[in-house]
Amino acid sequence: MVSIRQLEEYASEHNVPIMLKDGIEFLCDYIKKNNVKNILEIGTAIGYSAIKMALVNKDIKITTIERDVERYNLAIENIKNFNLEKHIMVILDDAFNVEFKKKFDLIFIDAAKSQYIKFFEKFKVNLNNNGVIVSDNLDFHGLVKSNKEISSRNVRGIVRKLRNYIEFLENNEEFKTEFYSIGDGIGVSKWQSK
Ligand code: SAH
Ligand code: MG
Repeated sequence: MVSIRQLEEYASEHNVPIMLKDGIEFLCDYIKKNNVKNILEIGTAIGYSAIKMALVNKDIKITTIERDVERYNLAIENIKNFNLEKHIMVILDDAFNVEFKKKFDLIFIDAAKSQYIKFFEKFKVNLNNNGVIVSDNLDFHGLVKSNKEISSRNVRGIVRKLRNYIEFLENNEEFKTEFYSIGDGIGVSKWQSK
């Protein structure tokens, strides 16, 4: 895949849950306006959001983690086709096995929706004092805010976990979070105590 359009088409045909267009636009805008340079992404999928973020400007460096080997391989190939190998490093592993010493300006959580609190708690030590943690899919197709009954047990579990995560962010004493109804729902969390 050599164009953004092709990545979007592939994702839609193969049910890869890449960021929605207005969501990724919001994120790229944020990166541009706040001069974000070092990014950690949890959940690469096929590299779509990492490629979009890296294209914002040439000083951006992204580390991104993906545990699914097929998606990892596709991401590596896509990143190569965009000549972004020097800007995006993909790690093939479960994010819970990965440790960093360095700090990032922005941490983007976009992996297993049931694990968001754990990702947040694990990686906040890798966030710069003026950095942000961005979380995707907080609306989960509108289900999080709706009181409609959900028939799938799996989806019901995800929605419950996302509601817990939102509550965790709302009551967090270390971080203040702004919630945006953009794309599939985005949270932007900043330290309030540093
Ligand atoms: N950020 C991507 C979409 C990511 S989809 C984009 O917008 O283009 C979520 C991805 O997270 C999936 O590919 C899934 O395999 C991966 N994932 C889920 N849990 C993970 C974990 N614990 N560690 C690493 N990757 C994980
Ligand atoms: Mg997402």
